[in-house]
Amino acid sequence: MKVYFVGAGPGDPELLTLKAQRLLKSCKYCIYAGSLVSPDVVTECAETTKLYDSAGMTLEEMEEVFIQARDEQEDLVRLHTGDPSIYGAIREQMNSLDRLGIDYEVVPGVSSFQAAAAALSTELTAPEVSQTIILSRTSGRTPMPEKEKLEVLAQSRSTLCLFLSVHKMDEVAKNLARFYGEECPAAIVFHASWPDQQIVRGTLKDIAAKVATAAIRKTAMIVVSQALSRDIPVSKLYHRHFTHGYRQGEGQ
Ligand code: SAH
Repeated sequence: MKVYFVGAGPGDPELLTLKAQRLLKSCKYCIYAGSLVSPDVVTECAETTKLYDSAGMTLEEMEEVFIQARDEQEDLVRLHTGDPSIYGAIREQMNSLDRLGIDYEVVPGVSSFQAAAAALSTELTAPEVSQTIILSRTSGRTPMPEKEKLEVLAQSRSTLCLFLSVHKMDEVAKNLARFYGEECPAAIVFHASWPDQQIVRGTLKDIAAKVATAAIRKTAMIVVSQALSRDIPVSKLYHRHFTHGYRQGEGQ
């Protein structure tokens, strides 16, 4: 038996990997993060799967379920929203499993920053503008390391995707405007890929007011980047004069 840490993706069950779907259909136990994982994904489990919502559970209570699955030699899926490697709090669970001598494996998922980019129909990288994507958050109950404060990260003016931060939109926008400029495009995607997905677009100057009007306080991705602008250089990859290993140029 194994415990599988499975990426549930951002919400739309069609964004599950084939492996995730197979494991959901076949596992006897599933512990899911009810506050974030879409109910549409949880219903991929078989009718006989025993479901546990981790929102109301302590680590010790989760351990009891791990032990039960181990004693019955049945697979258990630990379902995490998006990709489990990003703000997944999987380390402490893995420590428990190591102690209990239970084998585990991670199955990656589509992260919400990718679903947000898809919803916005944008590239997060743009030639000559931004070739780096920073995935970060503002401090909450988890403080930010000094070297990773927003003011430090903002200095490179890379594309910024902020998790767990939309409730601080005002503070974030004001802070970032000092580095990116007030006219820098910003977008918020609430519930990316869910049926009630909502997109708010603006600039660092007006995005906070727009988000307040839309009353978005959680489960949203903040994207800040010049790459969101349509008015920037495009890649020369498909230009007929651009040769590379897989194509001879049509021109000189
Ligand atoms: N592991 C997850 C992130 C978990 S942290 C992932 O890879 O996506 C939780 C934060 O993720 C939320 O506060 C929100 O910022 C973001 N998030 C999760 N699902 C989202 C969705 N469907 N749309 C937009 N943001 C989402």
